[in-house]
Amino acid sequence: MTALSPLLKQATPVVVDHALGSWIWSTEGERYLDFTTGIGVTSTGHCHPRVVAAAREQTGKIIHAQYTTVMHLPLISLTEKLGEVLPPTLDSIFYANSGSEAVEASIRLARMATGRPNIIAFHGGFHGRTVAAAALTSAGTKFRSGFSPIMGGVHIAPFPYAFRYGWDEETAIDFALRELDYLLQTISSPADTAGFIVEPVLGDGGYLPAPPRFLEGLRERANHHDIVLILDEVQAGVGRTGRFWGHQHSSISPDILITAKGLASGFPISAIAAPVELMSKAWPGSQGGTYGGNAVAAAAAVATLEVIHDEHLVENASIRGRQLREGLDELKGSNPLIGEVRGLGLMQAMEFVTDAGEPNQRLATAVQQVAVEHNLLLLTCGALGNVVRIIPPLTVTSEEIATGLDRLRAALKAAHD
Ligand code: PMP
Repeated sequence: MTALSPLLKQATPVVVDHALGSWIWSTEGERYLDFTTGIGVTSTGHCHPRVVAAAREQTGKIIHAQYTTVMHLPLISLTEKLGEVLPPTLDSIFYANSGSEAVEASIRLARMATGRPNIIAFHGGFHGRTVAAAALTSAGTKFRSGFSPIMGGVHIAPFPYAFRYGWDEETAIDFALRELDYLLQTISSPADTAGFIVEPVLGDGGYLPAPPRFLEGLRERANHHDIVLILDEVQAGVGRTGRFWGHQHSSISPDILITAKGLASGFPISAIAAPVELMSKAWPGSQGGTYGGNAVAAAAAVATLEVIHDEHLVENASIRGRQLREGLDELKGSNPLIGEVRGLGLMQAMEFVTDAGEPNQRLATAVQQVAVEHNLLLLTCGALGNVVRIIPPLTVTSEEIATGLDRLRAALKAAHD
């Protein structure tokens, strides 16, 4: 009998029947609190009625209006809507389907615009699974082992991961910026460096917010050397961190911003935004794709942005994020194996350690697995797999956060026993 590929590694045994808001109902009739949101995708909760209605309506008009053949209204509306939330300098948008594709598009653009070959990414970064995006990814060897050679011209510089080094944040930032300068002096000279690519909060690499001074240091160096600063907002963007974009916790803005995931509440669409002068340095037709900027996905994205605005979901992410964070800090207070609680808004995580302070992947996995038995869906992350991440929808209520924390407390206790 034909079956799904064993390549797929599924975090839970749940088979979904249907879902609404923060909740998933399984075919077995169990109801789960979903603090995974399909890896940070279902920003307005599952099946938000306005997103469902917009997608339904668009499906009856045109599903696939191929954007290099004919233009369609949802993409025009989406471009206008994104213009309301993007930094004003990023006035030109190119659409694709997935985060990885948009990452690739950003790399092509940076290389074509500068005529330079190299890209500097940061340790623990996750940028996708296509061969080029995998080359930029250092959030675990499983994303690159066994299928080398991957894309060349990539160098990985340190990310200021203070907890891992056992340093204070300022020391970690100084170290990371100094090593970046050393890399530019010794391996990838500015004349050979097209771009820096960084996440404002490392996602799959462990939910590490990039300190503002670090991002500012990248911005300064990018300005000084005419290097394109690419911010991968695929996981941290669209309200997730309590600001519309993750980088808005700092004073910088990027040359290219990448968005996907939460943009359309679950429909596949991604985008890169850049100044039109930069976009114009790639020739027409150098980027594209059969399904990019799909009409139904774009209509769902427009509805998503409207819901985020009308229901004040960025503020909700900030307020409910604070509630979640307080609960996690409390759990840490009574649990020495939670080494660090960190994150921004509704992008929060706990890093687990052993009694000796070493990364504790076993416990992180156990907590995630036992939580399923308590009807709470969570995910792990971190380059060493010892982090549990908590990603509720931006619509999450105070009661749901409280319920999630209760279930997490019970799962922690059971995982220890
Ligand atoms: N960049 C970041 C920051 C991500 O978190 C992800 C997905 N986890 C990607 C890129 C890749 O996106 P996709 O899986 O849609 O290709």
